[in-house]
Amino acid sequence: MPKLNPHFSALKKSYLFQKIAEKTAAHQKKRPQNSLINLGIGDIQKPLIPSCVEAMREAAVSFAKTETFQGYPPAEGYSFLRNQIASFEYQKTISPEEIFITAGAKNSCVEILQLFSSENIVAVQDPSYPVYVNGSLFSGMDLVYQPCLEENDFIPKLPEKPVDIIYLCSPNNPTGKALDRKALKTWVDYAVKQQSIILFDGAYEGFITSDAPHSIYSIPGAKKVAIEIRSFSKKGGFTNLRCGYTVIPNECQIKGVSLIDLWRKRLHSSFGGVSYPIQKAAEACYFPEGKKELALQMEAYQEQAAFLKQKLVALGYTVFGGIDAPYLWWKTPQRIPSWDFFEQILEKGVITIPGEGFGPSGEGFVRLSTFASIDKLQEAASRIQKGSLCVI
Ligand SMILES: *Cc1c(COP(=O)(O)O)cnc(C)c1O
Repeated sequence: MPKLNPHFSALKKSYLFQKIAEKTAAHQKKRPQNSLINLGIGDIQKPLIPSCVEAMREAAVSFAKTETFQGYPPAEGYSFLRNQIASFEYQKTISPEEIFITAGAKNSCVEILQLFSSENIVAVQDPSYPVYVNGSLFSGMDLVYQPCLEENDFIPKLPEKPVDIIYLCSPNNPTGKALDRKALKTWVDYAVKQQSIILFDGAYEGFITSDAPHSIYSIPGAKKVAIEIRSFSKKGGFTNLRCGYTVIPNECQIKGVSLIDLWRKRLHSSFGGVSYPIQKAAEACYFPEGKKELALQMEAYQEQAAFLKQKLVALGYTVFGGIDAPYLWWKTPQRIPSWDFFEQILEKGVITIPGEGFGPSGEGFVRLSTFASIDKLQEAASRIQKGSLCVI
């Protein structure tokens, strides 16, 4: 009889989305005539840009001929894409060999932990993307939470006791907070001193409008201690197509062992690579036409976030985020628990996510996603305004 992985029992059953679905269903049963506006899910809304569609189509067509057909892709990713990323994302300060094409950031955030023993302590921002907590738990690691609170401008403080691995997400989901240079440097310096490793999730890097750093490698010393995980999902609309990349600098070592060597071993023994048509589509994001199309799309997303934020602020609410991320971090009035506030807004026909679902320090907030048309956001704001939501 196989012995089961004991670490799965450490995982809290993910009540969050199930609970939201149940509450939403109950609401719809009560008021079937109400169509709900879903500002809960963090999935992109705009269609794939024409450049990516065309690149994917051409790649697919090339498979119809013997001369251009291709078998297995390279496990590290095709050079054409790694070169573009090195040039355009890192101005060649990172070499293409240090860039690994992945099937998305979510996978990488968890799989990277395979390089480490289960006897590690992992620090996560609180609130944060639930994948870090779940991945660490089923790897058997211990967790500490670094609260990101309003009084600290949502910047996590350094751990009180030494930690081995640190997840940093900037801009952070759900708070929308991008760490500025000073904050990021504090963490890099800490990691250098403690000899810990930072797993830097830059999934929302493309949404930054402030002068916050886009990459952790813009901080001196970071190459020794940081792995950067990025994705085409949110920036390029690839949540279905699945493509991202992970950067492991050659300098990133533990006791003389290069993490990049371990990662290569892991890749070649267990990863089949990302398909050619998908990598061609990702490459098209870096061509002049693709860049133009993406920039327009990003501008529209940024406008949407600013639009809803301004509407809510005008109604007298306290709202954070929306500057460097597509999320608004909406403070509940009078410290109403986030699930109660979620229900009140649901009564109005708008779905949000209670902040508590992202960690204990998310209590007192709800997350609003602005991946919706201006018309929808306008309608959501009107619904929120109508009647008595709660006294501000
Ligand atoms: C959406 C999201 C991801 C997932 O990216 P994929 O590339 O689609 O797997 C990773 N990190 C954060 C913080 C996210 O919000």
